[in-house]
Amino acid sequence: MKQIYRFNEGNADMKDLLGGKGANLAEMTSLGLPVPAGFTIATTACVQFLKQENYFEQNLKKDILEAIHQLENETGKSFLTNEPILLVSVRSGAKFSMPGMMDTILNLGLNDIKVKAFAKLTDSSFAYDCYRRLIQMFGDVVYGIAKESFDKILAKYEASFSKNATDFSIIEQERVIEAYKDLYYIQQKEFPQDPIEQLFIAIKAVFHSWENPRAKVYRQLHDIPFNLGTAVNIQTMVFGNSGEESATGVAFTRNPATGEKKLFGEFLRNAQGEDVVAGIRTPQPLSELKKLQPNAYTDFIHYAEILESRYRDMQNIEFTIDKGQLFILQTRNGKRTAQAALSIALALVEDKVITKKEALLQVTPTMVEQLIHPVFDPKALEEASLLAEGLPASPGAASGQIVFTAEKAKEFHEKGRKVVLVRQETSPEDIEGMVVSEAIVTSRGGMTSHAAVVARGMGTCCVAGCEALTVNEENLMITCDNQVLTEGDIISVDGSTGRIYQSKLQTVTPISNQKLQLLLSWADEQADLSVRTNAETLQDLTAAIDFGASGIGLARTEHMFFGENRILEMRRLILAEDDQEFEVALQRLLHFQQDDFYHMLEITNEKPMIVRLLDPPMHEFLPKDEQTIAELAASLNKSPTKINKQINQLHETNPMLGHRGCRLGITEARIYQMQVEAIFTSAIQLNQNGYNVKPEIMIPLIAEEKELIEVKRSLLQTIEDLFKKYDVTPFPFEIGTMIELPRACMTADQLAKEADFFSFGTNDLTQMTYGFSRDDIGKFLSIYKEKGILPEDPFQSLDQTGVGQLIQTAVTKARQTKSDMKIGVCGEVGGDPQSIAFFQQIGIDYVSCSAYRIPAARLACAQATLNDCRFAKVTL
Ligand code: PEP
Ligand code: MG
Repeated sequence: MKQIYRFNEGNADMKDLLGGKGANLAEMTSLGLPVPAGFTIATTACVQFLKQENYFEQNLKKDILEAIHQLENETGKSFLTNEPILLVSVRSGAKFSMPGMMDTILNLGLNDIKVKAFAKLTDSSFAYDCYRRLIQMFGDVVYGIAKESFDKILAKYEASFSKNATDFSIIEQERVIEAYKDLYYIQQKEFPQDPIEQLFIAIKAVFHSWENPRAKVYRQLHDIPFNLGTAVNIQTMVFGNSGEESATGVAFTRNPATGEKKLFGEFLRNAQGEDVVAGIRTPQPLSELKKLQPNAYTDFIHYAEILESRYRDMQNIEFTIDKGQLFILQTRNGKRTAQAALSIALALVEDKVITKKEALLQVTPTMVEQLIHPVFDPKALEEASLLAEGLPASPGAASGQIVFTAEKAKEFHEKGRKVVLVRQETSPEDIEGMVVSEAIVTSRGGMTSHAAVVARGMGTCCVAGCEALTVNEENLMITCDNQVLTEGDIISVDGSTGRIYQSKLQTVTPISNQKLQLLLSWADEQADLSVRTNAETLQDLTAAIDFGASGIGLARTEHMFFGENRILEMRRLILAEDDQEFEVALQRLLHFQQDDFYHMLEITNEKPMIVRLLDPPMHEFLPKDEQTIAELAASLNKSPTKINKQINQLHETNPMLGHRGCRLGITEARIYQMQVEAIFTSAIQLNQNGYNVKPEIMIPLIAEEKELIEVKRSLLQTIEDLFKKYDVTPFPFEIGTMIELPRACMTADQLAKEADFFSFGTNDLTQMTYGFSRDDIGKFLSIYKEKGILPEDPFQSLDQTGVGQLIQTAVTKARQTKSDMKIGVCGEVGGDPQSIAFFQQIGIDYVSCSAYRIPAARLACAQATLNDCRFAKVTL
């Protein structure tokens, strides 16, 4: 099987095999862009290498040698001998971009002898600079010798020679190199002098880097499958560090923070490779290149345009200028903030580059969540004391306690504290600390530094390159002018403005964003599924309608009984000792419920509103502590002993499997009747005033058709009586059931005879199917995830294999009875994009989720429809 592809043998569609970087290098080569020659070892080789001992020796060695010889022929240079010298880079490149997570080695091929020849050919400080970097990268990547150990040596020599490394004489350079090699000797290693040996070792190390811990964390975080492997790109070196006419840089075809249509980038003169991304020196903006290298700049603009129109998306391009000559080293769809993704998608539609449907696939539901996330309250900002200002690297607003290391961030986070990670610069080792931080601040580095790129990807707010801060990581201290802050002090970070404040500031969530509303209106046009809300307060309902809810999918009425005055009446009702006392409480609750439903129906009006009748067991409403029991006893004029006795009588060993849901509705029919009376008197009143409300009543925890028949009979009688009592023509309404028990799924054809609609309660259904308590799974979930028993929490993202199959069976059976049965999902997974894709496949009509999840769910529904149909009916 072919494992090695020269750049002129591939194209952009071969990402599975060549990885993103390799496929794009091949594509750029075929577009005629100035890409240094090279070849790619396929991802499949990595997968085999990691599985099979001796795979490299038996299956790859020979082909790599042949590819190197071809490269020598192509470039007219020599990798093995001295002149003219061919050096190569060895870079990882997986199918999905994992910036900085895996390894790269540059300047490969140099050794003690070749460096001398290279120095003669070029210039000595440049040649030795390359060699020094090679030894450092090789030591770090292959033998795990800490990068900082090399940096310390260099800093020591710079101090003792009182000059920068670039100005060292050959003898001085050799001293540093010897000291670098000593680091190898300490570990009983040696830097290999044979270029081929260097190459083989480097390729193996890059293959292994697919499995390094930070790459694993990144894959977990971004849902990247673990079995893909990385490709390895071997490419002729060009040198951004070969003098003042040379440079290396990174650019985006649009601003990755705002989406503005303007080339945006940074470069460093006389620098190599990772210097820009590592944030070691603060780079110059791309606009400066126009003055310094006008020809290279013009060429770059031209290539950037070619690339954006070829990929029909914003590009992130890496380039190098070697003595005035421009080379393009990489292009990929640029990572961007949520705000930028939205602006870019809309702008590309406006420019007719992409269709609305493609725009819907360019923004992710997670980005939509970020767009509705907090900003600092403008009032709080007016009084806030500004500490410093850096680059607005990733938007958002957050406050937290300062920590200086990733370990501390994790430690504080585990104790439930909110943290802001402050570092001079971050590196991929910090990933776990970054994940748990509310915000990230660095004192060095630009908009494309590691901190900035990673924070944008995670949607964490970040201020980078805040040079006013002197960050002393050893003494756990920040100084800024005359102020000193230490670990644990609270700061607030505004990633949209780059400002850092000295105290905790209140945040507010913007819910109006015209661009987002436009995109979501396109989403609604495409989506098969609609999105309702789970809401039972007017505040949640109003927010949900603002976020585009198409109605209420679940109003949990028990939440309405916990209000200050209501809980007493509920308790009076539960503890009533005679009918009269029960009726008094019931009438008072009726009054409260009428008020609730009137206002909710008034807001939803013609939109559907599903009210779920009382669900939890009665004892959930009763107090647990002595003091509240004593207070309740006083209010109800009863003895605490008596109340305690009643509480004990109501106690159940397995309350979730107990006297709850429709079981209560059957044993104490008057509660459900009261609720239905409240709903219908409100509806009658509103409809008399010109509204057009059509209430939908939902009965919880049905397991058996006869339960449904029984509850429905009682409710229909109440409704009929009310129509008569108020002398109104009956208006349409519906009575449906939740499906939240495996038995209900398996008998859905029978239940469908009695129900106008179904709504899957996946919280209970998951609990009852798995036998996992929805309230206690946290006790073992992390161990289950670690051991790979569960990929994720099945209460957050549907278990498609088990619970999903039950749902699918129920849908099929229900539609055998009633082909147009309306079916929704109102459990927590109703707002989860992955679960939504599954619901699309099995023909669910709507999902229902809490207000702030609605915008992302609307987009997820559209994407589910587009992805479902992409190869069938929809033309993008
Ligand atoms: C469910 O079980 O999924 C559901 C929506 O009901 P609740 O969470 O109120 O039990
Ligand atoms: Mg439930």
